Amino acid sequence: MPDKIYCAIDIGGTKILLYLIDRAEKVLHKERFPTPAQCTPEQMIELINRSTAASLARVGLSSTDLAGLGVCIAALLDYEKGVVHQAPNLGWHTAVPFREMLQQNWGCPVYLDNDANAAVLGEVAYGAARGHRNAIYITISTGIGGGLYLDGKVFRGSTGFAGEVGHIKPFGKGRRCGCGGMDCLEAWASGESIARIAKELWDEKEQGGAITTAWVFDQAQGGNSLAQNIIEQALQNISTGLANLVTLLNPSCLVIGGGVAVSREDFLEQIRARIREIAVAPAVQISTVEIKAAQLGPEAGIWGIYYLMRSPDEQRA
Ligand SMILES: [Zn+2]
Repeated sequence: MPDKIYCAIDIGGTKILLYLIDRAEKVLHKERFPTPAQCTPEQMIELINRSTAASLARVGLSSTDLAGLGVCIAALLDYEKGVVHQAPNLGWHTAVPFREMLQQNWGCPVYLDNDANAAVLGEVAYGAARGHRNAIYITISTGIGGGLYLDGKVFRGSTGFAGEVGHIKPFGKGRRCGCGGMDCLEAWASGESIARIAKELWDEKEQGGAITTAWVFDQAQGGNSLAQNIIEQALQNISTGLANLVTLLNPSCLVIGGGVAVSREDFLEQIRARIREIAVAPAVQISTVEIKAAQLGPEAGIWGIYYLMRSPDEQRA
C-alpha cells in the first residue's frame, strides 16, 4: 500500500496547475492546462474531479490514496466557510459554496484558499521568506495580488478578504480598476495597466506591433521620457503602497514576485530604495526588512496549499 499523497491545484487567471505530492514533498505528477474562459462553478468542479482522477490513474493511484485535496484560486473568498464571493477572471460574481461542492466527490479533506494567501505560505515554508514570522508577499504580473503572514500565520481578516494589496490606493488619481473601484495600485502598476496606459499614448499600428509591458520597459530603457513616466508612476505607486504596509505591519521580510518585477533587478532595486525612503524610519532602519524576489515563481500557490494541507490545525485556522 503506497503512502498517502496530496493533490494541490492552483486555478489562475490563465492556467491551472495540478500537482500530486507525497508526504516527503516529492512531486509524483504535474499537469498544466489553460483555465477555461467563463466556465461555471459546476463546470470547474467537473474539470477538477476529472483531472484529479486522471492524474491519480497516471501514477497508478486512486481517490482512496488521497490524504487531501487542496485548491487555491484567484478569487475573493471566505476561507472559513469555503465560499467564493468573486472570481472576476472566471466571471463569477455571486457567492459559490465551492469547497462544499468539491467535497461531495471526495472522501479526503478538501481545502480552499485564495491564491495569494497560498503563495505567501509557500514562500514562507519553502521559498524566499523561510524562517520569517512576519512577511508580506506581493505579486506584480497581469494583476497585483498579495498575502500577509503575521505572527506565524496567514492573516485573513474577519471574512477572509485581508491582504488585497492590489486594491490599496497609494496616491494615483483618475484610473478605474477591474474591481470597480478607483485608483487601486493594480490600476496603476500591474502589467496590464502599464500596457494599457501606454496604449493611450501610442498607436499599436504606428508602432508596428503589440504594445506590451516589456515594450514599455524597453522604451523607457532607451530614453523615451513618456515611457519613463509610466514606469516612474508604477514604481512610485508600488513603493508607496508597500512602504505603507511596512509602516503598518513591521514585517521582517517583503517578497516580491510576478513577471513584471522579478525579471528586472533594477526595478526591484528601485522599489527597495524607495520603500526605505518612504516607510517610517525605525521599521526599515532599526529593524531590518529584507526585500527579496520571490523564489517559487508560479509554483508558490501549489506549495502553499500543500503546506496548508500538511500543517497542524492552528496554522489552518
Ligand atoms: Zn481595485
